[in-house]
Amino acid sequence: MGGRDEYAMNRPRPVRPGAARNRFAMTCDKYISSTPAMKNSRQRRTSARLVSALASAASPTTSDLAPTSAALGRASTRLNTATTTKTTIITSSVPRFKDEDSSLTDNGAHIQNHPKRIPPSKRKRNQPEPTDSELDSDSSDSDFATPAKRPKKTATSRAASSLQDKLQAVATKKKRTAPTKTSAGETMTIVRLANASKLVGAHISVAGGLENATINAGKIGCNAMSFFLTSPRTWNSKPLAEATIAAFKRNCEAHGYEPGDVMIPHGSYLVNLGNPDAELREKSYNFFLDELKRCDALGIKYYNFHPGSSVGKCTPSESIQHIAACINRALAATSSVHAVIENTAGQGQVVGHSWEQLRELIDLVDNKQRVGVCLDTCHMFAAGYDLRTKEAFDRSFREFDEIVGYPYLRAFHVNDSKFGLGSKKDRHAPLGKGEIGLEPFKWLMEKPEFDGKLFILETPEESNWPAEIKFCIHFCGVL
Ligand SMILES: [Zn+2]
Ligand SMILES: [Zn+2]
Repeated sequence: MGGRDEYAMNRPRPVRPGAARNRFAMTCDKYISSTPAMKNSRQRRTSARLVSALASAASPTTSDLAPTSAALGRASTRLNTATTTKTTIITSSVPRFKDEDSSLTDNGAHIQNHPKRIPPSKRKRNQPEPTDSELDSDSSDSDFATPAKRPKKTATSRAASSLQDKLQAVATKKKRTAPTKTSAGETMTIVRLANASKLVGAHISVAGGLENATINAGKIGCNAMSFFLTSPRTWNSKPLAEATIAAFKRNCEAHGYEPGDVMIPHGSYLVNLGNPDAELREKSYNFFLDELKRCDALGIKYYNFHPGSSVGKCTPSESIQHIAACINRALAATSSVHAVIENTAGQGQVVGHSWEQLRELIDLVDNKQRVGVCLDTCHMFAAGYDLRTKEAFDRSFREFDEIVGYPYLRAFHVNDSKFGLGSKKDRHAPLGKGEIGLEPFKWLMEKPEFDGKLFILETPEESNWPAEIKFCIHFCGVL
């Protein structure tokens, strides 16, 4: 905890009104919306310039980022109201992609929107997921269309086609689409990015059954997901039926999600492993163990949970000892699931809000191979770890690495914060619409140390998720 007060003094530096703010807002706006398809190399070069302009833009202050969040909102509105919008995200392995066409964006990823009318006979509402061959025909008007489907070839389209030939094998294998109904009642198809350096997704509804997680995640372009295994606010949960497990695994396979790699369910809100009352703690422990066993049964490797609270009846250290004892028992009683501890905002008597407390907890866990940390950006900011300037951002994570260690990092909850630095209030805000601002999320996605981690949006306004996912993916690049 020592030294954290100085963060409060570290206010964002003033920026000349209009300069950095406009540059950042404009480039973000253009990139997030990216309405016109990049049809030729000149447009690709322009897009590359936008990326480098964004990269070199000075850090705007939190309030300066307001127009950017408005842009995010507008982009999302466009996504939801376009007559028929197909969002296509195509990528390949970096070296080949970049070598072939240096005019591509720095991170080698194309994000294209094709406003396009599709005859109702081709795209009905509630249509099941298209097959790979349908998927190919959907791509026929993109820059990277199958060569045979393009009637005339210009020099530009020939270059694009040769690139497409090379991409085809990867893209058709790895991309998945799912039609989803927009608020305007039209169909929007989102293609998931293959090979993204970070696995971006959201906390998905499993209304109607766990097996729906992958369907709902696919609809909004998730490469990772969290969900509740049981109802998070009740102690009563039905046993996990064999039929549910089978349907869940079938859907994972069908939608291209590997549960052991891309899923991190969220634990029940009722469980408190840090309660000094032995009877209440045992009730929590049994529920916790049951959820971990469900993960094992479903092939899920990561299970995220809030560590617990002393409820004001013991010291934080005693509470941490109770939590560690529960984790040790549960890991011994399960086979492969990892216990992933979420940092807390520090509200009430909860523990796990400082790097020191997380370290203290991990030190007491016997099986270091199966314990990890999920960092919630809203919680860390509310707990006093500043993220608003690059300097503060780097320092907060450097301290995490020094005290807890990146090897324990498994996932992030990507949330802006409704309340200020050190407020100890756990209230999420959409990206760029809270006190953290938008740019720190760009830094987060760019950070190479976090490649391969899961990034889960828990932001309010679910209609924003496709745009927020797209924003994150744009900056994370590809592996
Ligand atoms: Zn969270
Ligand atoms: Zn939270």
